[in-house]
Amino acid sequence: MNIKSKLPNLPTTIFSVMSRLAEKHQAINLSQGFPNFGCDPKLTSLVAHYVQNGFNQYCPMSGVPALNTRLAQKVKALYNADYDPQTEINITSGATQAIFSAIHAFVHAGDEVIVVEPAYDCYQPSIKLAGGIVVPYQIKAPDWKIDWEAFAKLITPKTRMIMINTPHNPTGSILDKSDFEALEQLVEGTDILILSDEVYEHLVFDGHRHYSILDFPTLRSRSMAIYSFGKSLHVTGWKLGYIIADAAIMHEFRKVHQFDVFSSNTPMQYAIADYLENKDTYLNLSGFFQKKRDFFLDKIKDSAFKIKPSSGAYFQVADFSNISDEPDLVFAKRMTKEYGVATIPISGLYTNGLDNKIVRFCFAKTDETLAAAADLINQIPAKK
Ligand code: PMP
Ligand code: GLN
Repeated sequence: MNIKSKLPNLPTTIFSVMSRLAEKHQAINLSQGFPNFGCDPKLTSLVAHYVQNGFNQYCPMSGVPALNTRLAQKVKALYNADYDPQTEINITSGATQAIFSAIHAFVHAGDEVIVVEPAYDCYQPSIKLAGGIVVPYQIKAPDWKIDWEAFAKLITPKTRMIMINTPHNPTGSILDKSDFEALEQLVEGTDILILSDEVYEHLVFDGHRHYSILDFPTLRSRSMAIYSFGKSLHVTGWKLGYIIADAAIMHEFRKVHQFDVFSSNTPMQYAIADYLENKDTYLNLSGFFQKKRDFFLDKIKDSAFKIKPSSGAYFQVADFSNISDEPDLVFAKRMTKEYGVATIPISGLYTNGLDNKIVRFCFAKTDETLAAAADLINQIPAKK
């Protein structure tokens, strides 16, 4: 039998490849982005309560109403954005599902989607499965800034969607107010939709604030903002997230959502709705992760890597060109095997495999893990 692949040549995600390699060589895993510490026990107690008390059946397609209401209050407080909890907020099975459904709801065969690269690896296959065409815009070290004039040249009559991600995975860069203002001008008068992946909204460092697409009223009618409880509650394995968009967009989104997942885990949504009543649970995250970033960077300050501190997310990119001329994948694999620390080589997150000798560390780890990793990283010698 001949199996006709819809995604021929698609490799296994680099996040699984590096995590598996870390396991095989018992290396410290600073590759895939997930915390190696637990969530707040209050949260797991709330989940246990709802599971034990019979909240175990399908919830509405849009989500458990108490959670939708909580999130509407949250975005009103944070971004002064008014969204209707029922018609404009939808709980999803992780940000990944929200992204997949959003792309499938709007991208027609032959439509172009502009993606800022390096890009989180679920974007492109989702676009391709929808029959869309990925139009990459590359940002580059050390500043990872978007040159909006160059970006504008990518827009054509076929551009259906622009995908942005702030704070950015893998680079840890953030978009500021002027970026959104440039974007506003760029799309004015067009039918271009914007998908804004903001799963790291609460991880922004050095006194910066997170600018959300929801902060910009003129962009709201064309935008979808996507979030992940996995990232904000240290529970990546729960695979719960949400999408916020104007009712007209949400109406179309739900046409896909209702048949690719229908609804997401019910008892956890009840628990999260209660848990988020305390705003400190998310407002303190930037401070918590900034400390981790600073702790880690201080420990590796004398290493052979060249580093510019990240501004957000729980990632730090590092330039290894003083250490090796190997392709980044080869270097990352060797570093895992020989030095016992796994990272993510970022060339695989560019469509054309651009290799600027950069790897990504995830610092969502205990201080003990970060210190142990730093000791190993410091042993990697510079080139002669
Ligand atoms: N977007 C970005 C930028 C991510 O880093 C991730 C992964 N953590 C996701 C989306 C997917 O999030 P989730 O695990 O909630 O599906
Ligand atoms: N978001 C995580 C990362 O960037 C990985 C998620 C995944 O493995 N799919 O490392």
